Amino acid sequence: TAPNLLRNFCIIAHIDHGKSTLADRMLQLTGVVDARAMRAQYLDRMDIERERGITIKSQAVRMPWQVGDAAYALNMIDTPGHVDFTYEVSRSLAACEGAVLLVDAAQGIEAQTLANLYLAMENDLTVIPVLNKIDLPAAQPEKYAEELANLIGGDPEDCLRVSGKTGAGVTELLDRIVADIPHPVGDADGPARAVIFDSVYDTYRGVVTYVRVVDGHLSPRERITMLSTRATHDLLEIGVSSPEPTPTSGLGVGEVGYLITGVKDVRQSRVGDTVTSAVKPATEPVGEYREPRPMVFSGLFPIDGSDYPVLRDALDKLKLNDAALAFEPETSVALGFGFRCGFLGLLHLEIVRERLEREFNLDLISTAPNVVYEVEMEDRTTVRVTNPSGFPEGKVMEVREPVVKATILCPSEFIGAVMELCQNRRGIQLGMDYLSADRVELRYTLPLAEIVFDFFDQLKSRTRGYASLDYEPAGTQAADLVKVDILLNHETVDAFSAIVHKDKAYAYGVMMAGKLREIIPRQQFEVPIQAAVGARVIARETVRALRKDMLAKCYGGDITRKRKLLEKQKEGKKRMKNIGRVEVPQEAFIAALGSE
Ligand code: GDP
Ligand code: MG
Repeated sequence: TAPNLLRNFCIIAHIDHGKSTLADRMLQLTGVVDARAMRAQYLDRMDIERERGITIKSQAVRMPWQVGDAAYALNMIDTPGHVDFTYEVSRSLAACEGAVLLVDAAQGIEAQTLANLYLAMENDLTVIPVLNKIDLPAAQPEKYAEELANLIGGDPEDCLRVSGKTGAGVTELLDRIVADIPHPVGDADGPARAVIFDSVYDTYRGVVTYVRVVDGHLSPRERITMLSTRATHDLLEIGVSSPEPTPTSGLGVGEVGYLITGVKDVRQSRVGDTVTSAVKPATEPVGEYREPRPMVFSGLFPIDGSDYPVLRDALDKLKLNDAALAFEPETSVALGFGFRCGFLGLLHLEIVRERLEREFNLDLISTAPNVVYEVEMEDRTTVRVTNPSGFPEGKVMEVREPVVKATILCPSEFIGAVMELCQNRRGIQLGMDYLSADRVELRYTLPLAEIVFDFFDQLKSRTRGYASLDYEPAGTQAADLVKVDILLNHETVDAFSAIVHKDKAYAYGVMMAGKLREIIPRQQFEVPIQAAVGARVIARETVRALRKDMLAKCYGGDITRKRKLLEKQKEGKKRMKNIGRVEVPQEAFIAALGSE
């Protein structure tokens, strides 16, 4: 298709504002998926995506659209909405000329609406403002059209009103995409350059790489080179998704499609990298390639130690599919052999863990997640700490932690509640703006460690669900951080060490020691449980020595749980872990790591 008949656009929105549903209606209206084959959130293909109702991987679909006599091809790129996957969103945006900015007409602008809008503006995209879900009785299109117009300029009347559910207004939206979004421009005769915006691993076909051609032309059976690594591969197939993969005679300027080379590892097809022809290679990449960087680390251990090789194999396979996942072997006294894994965020962690358990039939325990710390020693060496138990011994000059710039949107009645929460989490306010009379944007610098765990839940509960949050990395800052160790009979139990702010060390120590006292079975002798910062003990509990009538006189706690533990304990001595002289069933550690 000639570039002037192409339109490349993405749909951006806050989570749940209806991107995937609108995409469904477009697939139907343009006839690429017929009514019989249609199902909700058609493009969310992974089981986890369907169950959770969220989009994790970007998707690109080519749709025909006729306006008058002209037959256009529209490439729609559906993007993930969660902040963990912002990296993918920004790559998708770079492959488009325009964006449909979707806002739920019953909710108004939310934090990711803004974040995505800013990304779109950074990429010089033409933005089409659209209010969605106008079929809802609670919709207030007039009010939010005003809000949107205030934000991006222009007239409130320019906001289209649609319903992804009923299909109202979607035809007009497709016409508007053709009219407003510029067609792609590129050098058709220059060396081929295509940018990778996604790559997925397919069991049968190997890696499928999604690209947008910027200059030149890529043809079937051509030899291609990846600019960042200089690796070359033979193209086995080239085509477009419509939405099923359809081979074509190549891709030209502005076209979006897929490449298959038979390679098995997604790391060979790195999102953001530039593909060129091996025979007539381009020299300049399309954009700067950035390695996705894990932000949150956690230990993953098989509950059954003999599953370790299965876990290793499973991680290798998942990595083929997920370039952002990082892992290396880790040994824990309490949990045995496992892996230290790096993730983009907690949702990413949850998804990886769920996929490992589900697709590879594994039972796993994960240790409390932590961010990455930089520890500068007095001899000026700096250690990067991804595991609290690896916190260096010796004289520490400074500990630095990652910080983020957070944007919180909420109705103005909740300003006080939000500020209090941010202050409790060591936030520094950067600014505050009114988006409308009753809607505020608050900007803060916050430690990543304070925001990734339960911040969002807290924010939601303090604002009755009305606040939304977005954040982006903003470097590191020095902070008063200490490592708290948990000792069982004077031996450190590695899996429970944590790096926390000095003011929270005591609370962590008391909580952990108390939890362990509850679940560690009594021994022949008294077992002290201590929390310590360096050599200083900050909390202590005691597991009293065993008596014969122990079960009958079980003190406190949950008796059935203790019984279960003891039963499991009988199942086999191999699950007992020795911490010094103390024998502890692995289940006890697992229960202590659990969030109950
Ligand atoms: P996404 O997270 O932006 O992809 O949002 P989804 O498309 O998954 O939609 C989120 C929820 O809103 C789902 O329960 C949809 O059924 C619902 N929804 C989406 N569009 C509409 C609409 O136009 N009207 C109504 N009433 N509900 C909608
Ligand atoms: Mg979706």
